[in-house]
Amino acid sequence: MNYQAILDEIYDEVQPELHKGKVADYIPALAEVGKGQFAMTVTLDNGQVFSVGDSGKQFSIQSISKVFTFTLALDVYSRELYKRVGVEPSGNPFNSLVQLEYENGIPRNPFINAGAIAITDALISYYRDEYMTLEVIMNFVREISNNPKLSFDPLVANSEMEHGDRNLALARLMKSFGNFENDVLGTVFTYFKHCSITMNTEELSRAMLFLAFGGTDPVSQKQFITPSQTKRINAVMLTCGHYDASGEFAYHVGLPAKSGVGGGIAAIVPGKMSIAVWSPALNRYGNSHAGTLALEKFTTKTGLSIF
Ligand code: GLU
Repeated sequence: MNYQAILDEIYDEVQPELHKGKVADYIPALAEVGKGQFAMTVTLDNGQVFSVGDSGKQFSIQSISKVFTFTLALDVYSRELYKRVGVEPSGNPFNSLVQLEYENGIPRNPFINAGAIAITDALISYYRDEYMTLEVIMNFVREISNNPKLSFDPLVANSEMEHGDRNLALARLMKSFGNFENDVLGTVFTYFKHCSITMNTEELSRAMLFLAFGGTDPVSQKQFITPSQTKRINAVMLTCGHYDASGEFAYHVGLPAKSGVGGGIAAIVPGKMSIAVWSPALNRYGNSHAGTLALEKFTTKTGLSIF
């Protein structure tokens, strides 16, 4: 299949859509990112890369980092993790406090904010402190992307912390139910730091490749997790990867994927490839408007989906 031609076609078709939607402005540092930008990259098992648009431009991966922290936590805690975080779609906005209250402080899944904060807390307990935990997360992300230079943007992390009342409230609510083990401020700040990791679509697509191949990077042949763990992570991406629009995303795109409010979406086609797309303007659910559309076009044009 001529992936480059397909990406070029998609690039032309999404142009009229790039200014629709709203850039995430509840994080002031992200509000400055200009609309109208678009990038998409496909990475195959042999490491071959096809890109279109601003694929060298770094963006804040935000909630996509939750896939990496969930992977690490599942690896060290296994089933024990489910005592603290479920794996059901929430059907609620990503930062909702209401559901957490009536479900006794146990977040529905690792991809809503409360779930990801609980995962960061669990990792801090396991790795003993915040600094070590951040180091482990960063090293893991560098390893899976085969890029030792990846880093997070402290300006974005600080901006999130300054305006982090809702996430701090989620953490405190979990603590009131006994589902929190470490210092609330330090844990939430660690969570913001991993959300602030910056990547371009080529780096992000490479970082997701191991999830398309049963937990082993097909290029480096490094095994990061088992096929069974991979199956679970991909299942949660499919059912919970797009906040309360996860069903709609599965319906239109048909791939396990995770979005972030920075406008990125990372998806995998099991056994075939990983795909990253970025366009900063978001739809009303907080998912990239043009990014979602581009992935829908990709699966329609190529016939590649898990269904
Ligand atoms: N750091 C963001 C927050 O906590 C992540 C949101 C997202 O990408 O969904 O609000």
